[in-house]
Amino acid sequence: MPHDILGNIWNRFATAGKVLGYEDRLMKELMGFKMRLSFDLDATIGGKPERLKAVRVWHRAPLTDCIFKGGTRYRKGTTLGSLESHAVEMSIKCWLHDLPYGGAKGGIDFDPTQCTPEELEKITYRFVDELDERNAIGPFRDVPAPDMGTDALIMFWMAQRYSYLHRGEPYAKAVVTGKPVDPYIGGLHGRTEATGFGLLIAFDEILRYLGWNLDNTPTMAIQGFGNVGMHVAQFASEQGFKIIAVSDEFGGVDNGKGLDIPALIQHARSQKPATVKDFPGGFAIRNQDIFSIRCDVLVPAATEEVITKDNADSIVAKIILEGANGPTTPEADAILNDKGIVVVPDIYANSGGVVTSYFEWARNTDNFSDTRVPRENDYTTVIAALEKMMRHAGQEIVECSNRHRVSLRLAAYIVALEKAKLIRARRIPDYALEKFRTKR
Ligand code: NAD
Repeated sequence: MPHDILGNIWNRFATAGKVLGYEDRLMKELMGFKMRLSFDLDATIGGKPERLKAVRVWHRAPLTDCIFKGGTRYRKGTTLGSLESHAVEMSIKCWLHDLPYGGAKGGIDFDPTQCTPEELEKITYRFVDELDERNAIGPFRDVPAPDMGTDALIMFWMAQRYSYLHRGEPYAKAVVTGKPVDPYIGGLHGRTEATGFGLLIAFDEILRYLGWNLDNTPTMAIQGFGNVGMHVAQFASEQGFKIIAVSDEFGGVDNGKGLDIPALIQHARSQKPATVKDFPGGFAIRNQDIFSIRCDVLVPAATEEVITKDNADSIVAKIILEGANGPTTPEADAILNDKGIVVVPDIYANSGGVVTSYFEWARNTDNFSDTRVPRENDYTTVIAALEKMMRHAGQEIVECSNRHRVSLRLAAYIVALEKAKLIRARRIPDYALEKFRTKR
């Protein structure tokens, strides 16, 4: 039975709000949605006419005039309900890093691997048309980004369609982030790799604070070998980790001596759909076997609710680094905590994507008043700017965790909610703020 993911998030909001002494009224303000949009899309898939369900949801952010930001998912089973929690998590990530956005998430319920590129392009155009008709997309309204099943090419199609609909509008290309790197298209160097890279910075920062020293060649197991999983594998192996097992929805592979990651990437990319299954450089395992692999670091980088009370006991990792959104259920969290396994929470660990998305958007809109935004669009500068922000947020989370004696996950919520209140107050004019203060 599916868990109440959103309910779990609201529970954490409530606990964090209590720690901060927030009043009910403020909590109510933070715990709701500004928009839930759903519509049908007529499409052609594999030459056959189909009617698809498309959705977009905005978390009710503390600013009424803020821009919304969040991923676009092309995946079977995508529903409004399944994305609400992700929209809220996006807000948390933005608050953590002090970004001027409210969280959003959207997508279409279909399997993109069944489409020809032309069919996929048309579906993407229709999706933008429908969002635009409802005023639910725009560089200063709602700025989508890639997520499961979408990539830089799909972001390019979205930007192209929006620019066509809004010819002559300045900053039109800032309508989406995660675009291809090209001066005309406006993509940012390092954006594609950012979530995977950010995960390793988060890991390093947390480890530093814990004062833990792992072996010279720590071992890692990864579930999911898409954008996030593949880049984590690549960066981690370059940094001296031994990747001993990888799985995805079709199967997995394990090699105690360490998998040859460049060869595994080549293998996965050559398969249709992409998969690590049948990689000759290791032994075949089932997807679910990944959770009983003995390793230092386990990285769930596939989908939500994969670490549950049914498999948490079998986990023999020292640290869980959450690449996916919501991979661990609260019951599993409690079991892992009892076992002394440290969980680096998704809302911090995988936030490198939104940070670099913000860089891309700020550069595309000539918004350099925030000195954190890299002036140059080159890989080294962008990655250095991302690292600085990831380390800063990591330090705040660890300090909060120590101060309140709470898990890193709850600490991340506390830090984020603390900033949400500040962000909210900052935008309210002084005279109104006075009134607002006396009222409370
Ligand atoms: P992707 O579509 O590129 O890859 C997903 C991978 O997960 C594939 O290898 C797929 O086979 C595998 N997978 C899917 N369902 C699975 C299952 N039930 N069991 C095992 N493997 C499964 O997606 P992505 O962009 O890498 O995103 C992965 C996760 O990370 C998602 O939860 C996403 O919301 C989150 N995330 C992504 C980004 C980003 O920048 N791409 C940023 C933050 C969070």
